[in-house]
Amino acid sequence: MTDLQLRFVPDPVLRAVCAPVTVFDAKLAALAKGMLDVMYAAPGRGLAAPQVGIAERIFVMDATWKEGTTDPHVFVNPEMVACSDQVAVLSEGCLSIPDQTSRVARPAQVTLRWHDLNGTPQAGTFIGFAAACVQHERDHLDGILCTDYPEAP
Ligand SMILES: [Zn+2]
Repeated sequence: MTDLQLRFVPDPVLRAVCAPVTVFDAKLAALAKGMLDVMYAAPGRGLAAPQVGIAERIFVMDATWKEGTTDPHVFVNPEMVACSDQVAVLSEGCLSIPDQTSRVARPAQVTLRWHDLNGTPQAGTFIGFAAACVQHERDHLDGILCTDYPEAP
């Protein structure tokens, strides 16, 4: 899937409400691998399908590879099922919005459910950078960008 190309604002695909993934096949696995390749090359820590022009509910994340530990994850049809009252502010960048960061306040801890590439349900709880990242990427699947939030102090 080396034909995947990063999309940048104001590409309308970045504002699409993405469709649920219903077929868990080799094509989906190839898409996920291609998305990870684009993410590592960018270089970034998270990438959602609309950022490569595909309006489907899938994103990839590797929160730690820049520190030397490669830990790729694929989230299909992710849903946030719980979040903390405690809020954390992080300066977020987006591969689709070059040379810009925005300070976004989000729940400091979130629990997600999703499907893996085999269609098997998964769940996990995320804190710190990973919590902000999964929320940022999940937002992409509803056409929401980090620059849509009011700048946090
Ligand atoms: Zn982004």
